[in-house]
Amino acid sequence: DLTAELAAAAAVLATATDVTLLAHVNPDADALGSALALGLALHRRGVVVRVSFGAPAEVPETLRGLDVAGLLVPAGEVPAVPSVLVALDAGSVGRLGALGDRVASTIEAGGQVVVLDHHVSNPGFGTVNVVDDRAEATALVVLRLLDVLGVEIDEPIARCVYAGLVTDTRSFRHAGSDTHRVAARLIDAGVDAEAVARPLMDSHPFGYLNMLASVLGRAVLDREAANGLGLVHAVVTLEDAKGLRPEEVESVVDLIRTAQEAEVAAVLKELRPSTWSVSLRSVSAVDVREVAQLLGGGGHRRAAGFTAKGPAEQVLASIVEALGRS
Ligand code: 5GP
Ligand code: MN
Ligand code: MN
Repeated sequence: DLTAELAAAAAVLATATDVTLLAHVNPDADALGSALALGLALHRRGVVVRVSFGAPAEVPETLRGLDVAGLLVPAGEVPAVPSVLVALDAGSVGRLGALGDRVASTIEAGGQVVVLDHHVSNPGFGTVNVVDDRAEATALVVLRLLDVLGVEIDEPIARCVYAGLVTDTRSFRHAGSDTHRVAARLIDAGVDAEAVARPLMDSHPFGYLNMLASVLGRAVLDREAANGLGLVHAVVTLEDAKGLRPEEVESVVDLIRTAQEAEVAAVLKELRPSTWSVSLRSVSAVDVREVAQLLGGGGHRRAAGFTAKGPAEQVLASIVEALGRS
């Protein structure tokens, strides 16, 4: 059970001297905030710590400020055989991208792999698995672990946890009363909530507005899809995204999803010509994780995603088809 796994994770980390922490590819604030919160705590205890992720090469600009101790290293500097590996907010080995092979190499060498996550689909790919699908963010799982370890939650650690929490709960829309109490605790620890949230979700370069005008102008409402519940979809091409950060592209789905005629929203984001990262969202009736899993991805009931190859029309057709089956 969760308490036993939490104790096992704490036991591994309490005696470790060298720990490698991995966030999922295209890390969001929950993945990187969780990794850095735990990383900062271990670093303070004298542990050799490195934090990394499989792709892209750049650290998202909005998250760089969380790394106050310089723990982030390029993927190329992650040891081939880490002694202790921690995977954060990754629902499967595949979500670690090019660094996924470190899971097998660590286990084969007799090392521990600690999985800290909140995806219901997580198979438990570590030697210790703290996977709580009722946690609104992996950052909450990390905070619980830090409490078991007896770590003092100072402002830099609290800020990392808060960043993950405010992002994955969409500004506490999806947060229960316990989670609001956690937020209060983090603010009491010194977090400037507005200063953390603003760059993460309320600040974009001016070019964002023109990109939106173009992308939203081409959005389509398909009322018949999802068994008549409706699908709204939009496509962000490399041309649309030119000169903008990944953060701007990621935020498009939060606008698309507001179309009240549609239960489901889909945004196709062009990664490379003919390769798309797809974001799926639902309001209440459709489990988009099931849809994403049919198409090779995963996620949560109301937010999921997958990667697909081919023309955009073909990817959209596959979504419509999968929605009809789910
Ligand atoms: P987003 O749309 O914000 O990129 O992702 C929403 C959620 O869907 C994430 O929290 C993650 O769990 C899941 N997700 C997104 N893309 C993928 C993917 O390519 N594969 C899998 N397995 N899950 C994904
Ligand atoms: Mn995530
Ligand atoms: Mn998460």
